[in-house]
Amino acid sequence: MGARSGNNYLSALRKLKAEVWLGGARVEDPTTHPALRNCANSIASLYDMQVEHPEAMTYRLEDGGRAGLSFIQPRSAEDVRRRGAMFRRWAEFSGGMLGRTPDYLNASIAALAAAWKFFAASDPRFGENIQAYYRRAREHDWCATHTLLNPRASRAAGWAGHTDAELALRVVEKTGEGVIVSGARILATLGPLAEELLVFPSTVLKEEPGAEQFALAFAINCNARGLKFICREPLDLGRSHFDAPLASRFEEMDCVVVFDRVLIPWERVFLCGDIARCNVVYAETNAVVNMMHQVVVKNAVKAEFLLGLAAKIAEVSDSMSLPHVRDRLAEMIIAAQLMRSSLRAAEADAHQDQWGEFVPDRPPLDAARNLFPRLYPRLVEIIQLNSSSSLMAAPSEADFASALLPDLERYLATAGALARDRVALYRLAWDVAGSAFGGRQVLYERFFFGDPVRMASALVDATDLKPLVARVDELLQRRG
Ligand SMILES: Cc1cc2nc3c(=O)[nH]c(=O)nc-3n(C[C@H](O)[C@H](O)[C@H](O)COP(=O)(O)OP(=O)(O)OC[C@H]3O[C@@H](n4cnc5c(N)ncnc54)[C@H](O)[C@@H]3O)c2cc1C
Repeated sequence: MGARSGNNYLSALRKLKAEVWLGGARVEDPTTHPALRNCANSIASLYDMQVEHPEAMTYRLEDGGRAGLSFIQPRSAEDVRRRGAMFRRWAEFSGGMLGRTPDYLNASIAALAAAWKFFAASDPRFGENIQAYYRRAREHDWCATHTLLNPRASRAAGWAGHTDAELALRVVEKTGEGVIVSGARILATLGPLAEELLVFPSTVLKEEPGAEQFALAFAINCNARGLKFICREPLDLGRSHFDAPLASRFEEMDCVVVFDRVLIPWERVFLCGDIARCNVVYAETNAVVNMMHQVVVKNAVKAEFLLGLAAKIAEVSDSMSLPHVRDRLAEMIIAAQLMRSSLRAAEADAHQDQWGEFVPDRPPLDAARNLFPRLYPRLVEIIQLNSSSSLMAAPSEADFASALLPDLERYLATAGALARDRVALYRLAWDVAGSAFGGRQVLYERFFFGDPVRMASALVDATDLKPLVARVDELLQRRG
């Protein structure tokens, strides 16, 4: 099939019937469930963009068909840039508020498959499996999520590199058909709206006897028997697009995933029991670089969206000339520019990796992904500071349709906007900077790509500081 339409996605999701729990009840159909359907429709709109703009959103396969561009295994730096432009179109649709658009994992699967020899070195079947999985995912244009962390009852054990053996996802049996796994994983964003679940290791495992059962990488269809998605409290509360412009469109839902003796057929297993490879899979295959490429595009778009919002607030509140407002706008301009510059540097220095795929240069992406979790809360704070009580002087759409209309029109208009337009703007600002949806966005940006403290520590490890220390030593030792 190749690049799919929105209708194709919605009908596949309807037929899937995965075991999703929300508010103590089974979700029969996520495409009609009040807390999930709006986001399902938003994802469908992304897929429709592939049909509407095939040149920009898809690429030609060797057999003449077309696949979504996020699946490309770039053969040149130009391919990397084209993919980045495609990421941008999808990110702009939600102002970067949909973090887990399918391109995030499509690009990861493409890198994993390009590095099939990495898996084949563990077991020749695994090398074939990852390539076959990539081709199927691309052909069906599947929407996937992933889940990397084991639940933790004891932080001390986690810090020592041990896993909570009774809770963590683990192999409980191996059969001729595949491996049977039990345990839980946190989290899976987009879980109820995904067709496929990728389960990869992220926590570094100790190389010690008994740890092999936790060393796993596989993909499973979300409706597999024994697999449960447990949703958090919904953030789409059924309000109109006027009342909750973001939550009513982009609630991507996060889930805990429970595996109760789930059979993973051998053809869907990519690593099993190989601790050393599990510990380096993302870095060695460059899947993490492809994911960072998507993430930094999203960061740039999100920073631009908040900047646009702050500029509009300054216009409507007639505060563009105030020095502190200008100072804060400058901070936001710098944030957006830094994201774009990092992206541009990474794409300009794209190069062929050891598996033959062109990848963006990692250091600028690393800088941007480490910076954004610190920047985003500040961008949100600026929206709060520049909006202040206007975030609260924001009646609902129902108020505008009531006898209150003359009062609202009289008291809430500004020199720069009619009352309704002003309130619409501040309701959007509230969804960014005050609502539960906005709060979850901040949490997402702080953590979704990993704990910022450990990411920073990894960056220090990855950076060769010796030449810089030598330069300082040279100056200290200079006698003249
Ligand atoms: C909205 C949201 C969506 C997410 N979606 C997904 C998803 O789709 N798939 C997925 O796999 N994961 C997802 N995650 C989980 C994400 O990967 C984790 O939040 C992240 O890796 C941090 O792990 P943690 O939450 O267990 O925090 P913890 O590891 O518990 O960290 C909590 C705090 O303790 C500190 N800390 C912990 N250990 C150490 C240590 N060894 N040294 C120093 N400090 C330490 C951290 O710095 C942090 O401040 C999501 C998270 C959020 C918030």
